[in-house]
Amino acid sequence: MAKQEDLFKNVVSHAKEYGFIFPSSEIYDGLSAVYDYAQNGVELKKNIRDYWWKSMVQMHENIVGIDAAIFMHPTTWKASGHVDAFNDPLIDNKDSKKRYRADVLIEDYAEKLNQKAQKEIEKAKGRFGDAFDEAQFVATNERVKGYLDQKNAILQRMAKGLDSGDLADVKALIEELEIACPESGSRNWTEVRQFNLMFGTKLGASADSAMDLYLRPETAQGIFVNFLNVQKTGRMKIPFGIAQTGKAFRNEIVARQFIFRMREFEQMEMQFFVKPGEEMKYYEYWKETRLKWHLSLGLGKENYRFHDHEKLAHYANAAADIEFNFPFGFKELEGIHSRTDFDLKAHEQFSGKKLQYFDTEENRNYVPYVVETSVGLDRMFLAVFSKALQEETLEDGSTRTVLRLPSVLAPTKAAILPLVKKDGLPEVAKEIVEELKWDFNVAYDEKDAVGRRYRRQDALGTPFCITVDHQTLEDKTVTIRHRDSMEQQRVAISELRTIIANEVSMRNWLMKM
Ligand code: ATP
Repeated sequence: MAKQEDLFKNVVSHAKEYGFIFPSSEIYDGLSAVYDYAQNGVELKKNIRDYWWKSMVQMHENIVGIDAAIFMHPTTWKASGHVDAFNDPLIDNKDSKKRYRADVLIEDYAEKLNQKAQKEIEKAKGRFGDAFDEAQFVATNERVKGYLDQKNAILQRMAKGLDSGDLADVKALIEELEIACPESGSRNWTEVRQFNLMFGTKLGASADSAMDLYLRPETAQGIFVNFLNVQKTGRMKIPFGIAQTGKAFRNEIVARQFIFRMREFEQMEMQFFVKPGEEMKYYEYWKETRLKWHLSLGLGKENYRFHDHEKLAHYANAAADIEFNFPFGFKELEGIHSRTDFDLKAHEQFSGKKLQYFDTEENRNYVPYVVETSVGLDRMFLAVFSKALQEETLEDGSTRTVLRLPSVLAPTKAAILPLVKKDGLPEVAKEIVEELKWDFNVAYDEKDAVGRRYRRQDALGTPFCITVDHQTLEDKTVTIRHRDSMEQQRVAISELRTIIANEVSMRNWLMKM
């Protein structure tokens, strides 16, 4: 099997070569952690967004969507806590001039201790076979205990330093652990500083009267400030949800993993408003429902896991991530957060306006509690794309690159190919394109030998190739080739629409949830 790093390199180069993702402003050597979606990428991204919107908004009677502006009144971010608390601790290495997140340097060190412990456990497992009692071994083996105790002590001390604002101790910890810069190997560090992740900008023409604004770092606040507008005009009854998809911006300190961590990215979020006291029930419900949505895409159950947060954000009373097995390991794909009444209460306080719900059954007003589901669209793209990209060895020993995208998400659903560029075949193929394009995104391709055209469509993730040959002229049939099995069937042109629809319809995919 290819090494993970190679796999990731393949993902990045395939995304570029086949018109999915380009580095931003590449002719000027790009802009760090900013990317553009190309002609095929934009279709895949849109299909992921639609798949989410269908399942979250259109399939739920009690969830509606909005599209709030990126610019918001600056007090929004005071109220939400982002001005004061949306920080990452950063540290620079004076020799390499590289910038790091101090918490990540320490966490990586702790993870190495964890791995040493796991190695000992694996070794012992091999030695003792079936009789192995892991819990007992971990509790009694001095070496393993030592590694794990040290790991926990380090993480606890770091959390204490960060929570209390004692950044000098965070730096002292880095020094005591003798953590070196991965680039220069030196331990010549600056102080640790808090760095706010929000991008600032200005609204207004003249320098004196211009207002300081932020580009929103999450879409959620656009939902909170519109909570009452939507509830009243939509006559929504609790429990109900408001969903939106849109751009968010974060000045990430370390952004080195392609579209996994970008400075401009897109979120798909839903805030579910519930009666206080019922939030845990809905938190569990949404955790399960969101995992089912991911699983419906068929990328393999083993590639997802939950990670429950021990350290909670200032607004949450429970939080979990759905992690995905990316080419660089399991990382957060989606967050499910029980946000309490923190945001609505804070906006009440800062705006002086009531943001309460009148519960007719209980005949009282209250500030609802909120359960949020928040998934990065770009991360979702990377998850799907990286798992779909496969190199296959065929029976005849040759290899093919195939992008096994879930067909509901594939940018192009079918490519229509005349076998040769003459004898009236292109004309018939174009007629088929004209007919199918009302329902599906389809492509026409007449260049190169048909085998090469098949391979090209495989690499683009197109589920079907439809080939028009001389027999078509006689009996109005074509061959339809399936991307994954490479099997070909002879079918009537009149059947094509039904065959494709069956395979790509959201209905059939979402029914698997
Ligand atoms: P991380 O711990 O990876 O920085 P986070 O916990 O800060 O993520 P949230 O604030 O919970 O992320 O945002 C919700 C979702 O938005 C994440 O699960 C992720 O999919 C996406 N997301 C967050 N930051 C980025 C980013 N810089 N680039 C791309 N997607 C992002």
